[in-house]
Amino acid sequence: MSATVIDLASRRAQPRTRETCRTCRRGTDGSILECYPHRLDSLADRVRYDLLSTQGELLIDRETLADRLTDVLHVLETITDECLRPDERGTR
Ligand SMILES: [Zn+2]
Repeated sequence: MSATVIDLASRRAQPRTRETCRTCRRGTDGSILECYPHRLDSLADRVRYDLLSTQGELLIDRETLADRLTDVLHVLETITDECLRPDERGTR
């Protein structure tokens, strides 16, 4: 008796890209308006880039740091209760 081996990794749900995401939208100018998980993902990429580009630096330009912190606060402020599904609202 033999069993068929199935690669479970190929059946795992793949994360949606901004183009295939059901919640990201296109603005009137054609730019992508990201959903909140994709906004957080993009923010994480920008913070990672800053960390990598300043690796080994003893002094980090205050403006660079202030710009990124402003970016972080702006993104966090855009994530409100309305981003969540109705059954998730008010539970956190
Ligand atoms: Zn999205």
